[in-house]
Amino acid sequence: MSGTALQRAVSRFKRPLKVVNLCFIAVFIFSTLLTWREVVVLESAYVANQRNSLDNIATALDRQLQYSIDNLFFYRNTMRYALQSPISTDKSRKALSAFEEKRSRPYWQIRLDIKRSLPLSGVSDEFVDRGKLLDRDADTMHDELEAALEFSYIMQLSDRKRDLQSQVVYASRAGFYLSSTPPIDDPQIISQYYQLIAQPYFSAQSPHSNPDRDLRWTHTFNPRSQAGQVITAAVPLDNNERWYGVLAMDFPIAAMHQFLRDARRDEDEGTVLLYDNQFNPIATSANGQPHGSRFTAAQLAEIAGKVDTAKRGEEGELRMDSRFVTWSKLNNFDGLLVKVHTLEEGVQGEFGRISIVLTILWGLFTLMLIASWLVIRRLVRNMLTLQSQLTTRANYDTLTRLYNRGAFFEIARSTALQCQRQGLPFCVIQLDLDFFKSVNDRFGHHAGDKVLPHAAAILSEALRVGDAAGRVGGEEFCIVLPGATLVQAVQVAERVRARISTKELLLKQGETVKITASLGVSSAQEYDDYDFEHLQSYADQRLYKAKQNGRNQVCSQD
Ligand code: GH3
Ligand code: MG
Ligand code: MG
Repeated sequence: MSGTALQRAVSRFKRPLKVVNLCFIAVFIFSTLLTWREVVVLESAYVANQRNSLDNIATALDRQLQYSIDNLFFYRNTMRYALQSPISTDKSRKALSAFEEKRSRPYWQIRLDIKRSLPLSGVSDEFVDRGKLLDRDADTMHDELEAALEFSYIMQLSDRKRDLQSQVVYASRAGFYLSSTPPIDDPQIISQYYQLIAQPYFSAQSPHSNPDRDLRWTHTFNPRSQAGQVITAAVPLDNNERWYGVLAMDFPIAAMHQFLRDARRDEDEGTVLLYDNQFNPIATSANGQPHGSRFTAAQLAEIAGKVDTAKRGEEGELRMDSRFVTWSKLNNFDGLLVKVHTLEEGVQGEFGRISIVLTILWGLFTLMLIASWLVIRRLVRNMLTLQSQLTTRANYDTLTRLYNRGAFFEIARSTALQCQRQGLPFCVIQLDLDFFKSVNDRFGHHAGDKVLPHAAAILSEALRVGDAAGRVGGEEFCIVLPGATLVQAVQVAERVRARISTKELLLKQGETVKITASLGVSSAQEYDDYDFEHLQSYADQRLYKAKQNGRNQVCSQD
């Protein structure tokens, strides 16, 4: 766009202040929208980050549990295989005869090999007879014992460093058990066996309670103390439609705590909590349960309402008070991993810091915008005032506030032409103050300067809408009267003359001056000439005539 084209475009804006305001509002809205967009992007990145960090922990825990559960199923297959194809060796036969010898004792222990196998601990026939779920079946008893003795070799091989579980147990319905942490051969065996079969995980594996023969998780939740609490994964052992017993793994709460604590990367990472399928808290990644990660019953119910318990690996998130809560259902555990991120942790974290910087930047930008808006507004206001002052100075006479010669001639010319086009009459009055020089001489130049606006005010009062008056010389004035006939113009001129001659002007206290003026009037109709300059010179000639005739009079004839 060229310079003049630009100027033209700019000059089209009639209200520069309005344009400035609109521009600043647009910039403000634009910057706010941009910042808002950044915030939205940041928020989705934050949500993804929260999700990711929980997913990492959930995957690690799932992998760990998968390892243990794979082992549990491997143990079951081993036992089943041993039941189907029992190996009879000298050692096993010896162990079986030891069993036959000890079976009626209140407690007993037999083993295959002192160095390489774990002992089988058992209770008496009488104890088994009393147990509702227990059964020492003569047909299968020896096969089961042989299988368990064989399994006691394998159970010995478990990798303690990799295992999350504290113990693996095979609890038989036939009144004995095999544990990876074997008891000593003492009366404790009775109470330990009793505890094993009395726990819900055992009865939950009866064909009636577990018709699918699937893995079952149980958690004996004690709200008062977490000491000694375990989560148990258990599978039933069946062969030829007989339920032999239960293979179980105990995962101590303390190990779960430690796992979650180890999985947490940073302090401001938030708290990860593990819940069982009844929404009882099992473990947290924090020491104790920090206040920020506590839920009321209603809040837990809200989360529970959103979790599809039937769906494995299900995920979700929600905002709760000032906390951001994400959850993930584990694939290998019937429970829920929940991550709670509080506002304080969020502010201390990377996303919090970026959000604060973004807000500060937006605030600074807005402050700078407001400051520059105020400055530019003031500049534009000053410019407009200056512009109007310049226009006034260029067109008006500062002393009389009438049009100056240049502006008046321009207006008068165009008014005359307009009247000519419209066929209207047009008159010119030329006025000159009488003996003005003597006013200056008698009262001083300053007094003369007071007389000029005095006369101009009387002139202005006589004007109608559309008329125009200007100072065309030192003490000479001119009036154009569009639409006025010569007679009407003479009446106006006479009225002006009379007012000037009668109205006294107070120069200073006790000193007044009275002036007169001579006026010449010309009309376009009279000469059939609408050229203003011609008409002004005719009026001037008649003014000269009025002076000659004695001043203080109006002359409208040659
Ligand atoms: P007449 O027109 O009646 O023949 O006499 P006059 O004295 O008015 O005529 P003349 O043209 O000789 O004098 C005009 C005087 O007006 C000359 C000048 O000192 C004075 N004058 C012109 N402009 C100004 C002005 O702006 N201020 C003052 N105080 N005097 C001015
Ligand atoms: Mg003069
Ligand atoms: Mg004069």
